[in-house]
Amino acid sequence: MRKVIYWTSRAIRVEDNPALFHAYQHAVDHDAQLEVVFFVWPLFDSANMRNMDFLLHGVLEMANKLTALHIPLRVYQSDPIQYFSNELNTSRLLMVVTEQHVLKPVKQVHQKVKDLLSKQGVAFDTVNTAMVVPIEMASDKLEYAARTFRPKIMSVYKDYLPLLPLLRPLNQACEGVFDQRQLNQILESGHHWQQLPLSFLVPGETAAKERLAQFIQHGLPHYHRRNEYHSQGQSMLSAYLHFGMLSPKIMIREVEKTGHANAPLFVEEALVRRELAENYCHYNENYDSLKGAWPWAIETLKQHLHDPREYEYTLEQFEAANTHDDLWNFCQKQVLDTGCLHSYLRMYWAKMVLYWTKQPQDAIKILIHLNDTYMLDGRDPNGYTGIMWSVAGVHDRPWFNKPITGLIRPMSKNGTLKKTKLDFKIPTE
Ligand SMILES: Cc1cc2nc3c(=O)[nH]c(=O)nc-3n(C[C@H](O)[C@H](O)[C@H](O)COP(=O)(O)OP(=O)(O)OC[C@H]3O[C@@H](n4cnc5c(N)ncnc54)[C@H](O)[C@@H]3O)c2cc1C
Repeated sequence: MRKVIYWTSRAIRVEDNPALFHAYQHAVDHDAQLEVVFFVWPLFDSANMRNMDFLLHGVLEMANKLTALHIPLRVYQSDPIQYFSNELNTSRLLMVVTEQHVLKPVKQVHQKVKDLLSKQGVAFDTVNTAMVVPIEMASDKLEYAARTFRPKIMSVYKDYLPLLPLLRPLNQACEGVFDQRQLNQILESGHHWQQLPLSFLVPGETAAKERLAQFIQHGLPHYHRRNEYHSQGQSMLSAYLHFGMLSPKIMIREVEKTGHANAPLFVEEALVRRELAENYCHYNENYDSLKGAWPWAIETLKQHLHDPREYEYTLEQFEAANTHDDLWNFCQKQVLDTGCLHSYLRMYWAKMVLYWTKQPQDAIKILIHLNDTYMLDGRDPNGYTGIMWSVAGVHDRPWFNKPITGLIRPMSKNGTLKKTKLDFKIPTE
């Protein structure tokens, strides 16, 4: 029998998943078997116990939901290229569907799989699952700032908000699916992963919707005060969005449905800023280096390259939260222990690395390492864009010329404490 495979990695959900829907329809239209596969890739060097535990529990929930639709989800501890080579030899593959991705390492693997499949005439389709508006539909070019992107996306996003219909069970066998036993076995064999404390967030599609509902009830009314550390105004949805456990359309629809005065503020972050970050990484292949900054920023940082730095730290010192600054160390300890950081403090955490490294490029490299290793929502276009905003002014405007940062927006400890209303006491030894 012919087969359609949906290779999932960025949309760990069943509801409103356009890649799953596309694969499902193709299988039904061609009377083909539908299978879903997920790879625990041995070469994935950002894997650690925190992100893998969160991700795999989400995959387990997805597998259970798909079983009810008679769609098997299988997990392989192998490289996708090896797997698809084998499938080409052993089954009648009709099509492989996966999620569209803008980050280079994933795009490279997609290209290799596409090349492999195309030699045998097998289609490889990538589908937008992570954005409300597909990237090219929102804008056909690299956007300079939120002010250039906002009118474009705001004029079309409502057209993309309708949800996909729920899937009906297929009439096919559904055996050998991912289960708790295999999950335990993978986690037990992951002893080479860094053993970080697990997240306090509950993984999976159901928990993501519960978090959204909690936010709407208790957080949205405080969203205008989210910069205050204790306001409870943040949604804490970024990890669910990163792993695709929550449909961005459902999120925007539900928040807008409230009609709350803070809904537009949330839409600004969760639609405009989030989809602008995707635009940046899609249209700028230097999203992870100083080369990816705008010319004014490259120029100003060059002019200040040799400004004396009062403090200089190595990656190991930053990683160990071992700087002179108690506030920065407090942030980094949260990053290590929880994989989350309050949004305003995240800017401070990143900006200070620019002040305390020899060169901006070193700061970018260190921040990418810290963000991608420890943050539960790391390895995300938002992360690369957030780092480039902090260090190199991407999407921001020139400020006033200052030592080290030049025209890049400066930040200070006192200003941060004032803005966050964080009553920060120096911990006693
Ligand atoms: C240095 C730095 C690194 C960052 N790294 C990441 C990352 O790895 N992954 C990540 O998802 N976000 C990252 N961000 C963006 C932002 O800080 C987080 O999305 C936010 O803190 C997540 O908390 P929340 O879900 O409670 O946000 P909320 O304020 O509740 O916002 C809702 C959603 O909107 C989106 N959003 C909010 N702020 C931004 C922003 N500035 N840019 C783009 N989208 C935004 C996120 O998807 C977020 O979940 C980074 C920002 C900086 C300055």
